Amino acid sequence: MNAHSLPLTPFEIGLGWLLNNYKFGGTRLWSGLRTPDSPYYSETSQHSLGKAFDVVFKYVQAEEVREFILNNRDLFPYVTGLELDVSWLHFDVRNTNAIKVFNA
Ligand SMILES: [Zn+2]
Repeated sequence: MNAHSLPLTPFEIGLGWLLNNYKFGGTRLWSGLRTPDSPYYSETSQHSLGKAFDVVFKYVQAEEVREFILNNRDLFPYVTGLELDVSWLHFDVRNTNAIKVFNA
C-alpha cells in the first residue's frame, strides 16, 4: 500500500497526515507512545519514552517530508531524530543538540 492509498480518518486535513487511527476503526495503535503492552515495545526506543512519532501521509511521500525537515532545520528545532529509508515519517525529540538521522 503506498502513501496515496492510505485510508485516513474523516478528519483528514492539510497534508492528510495520520498518527494513530484505532479510535476510528483503523489498525494504527502504537505510532506514538509504546508501552510494554505494545508488540513493538523496546526499552531503548524513543517511542517508549513518549518522544517519537510515526506519521503517514496521504498526499505526499514521507521522504519529501524528511527532506523538507532536513532542509528547514530552523522550522523544526525540536526534531532531533529522523529515521531514513522507511515509508513513514519517524521523528523524535530525543535529548541531543544535533539531529540524528539513522536506519533502524
Ligand atoms: Zn518510529
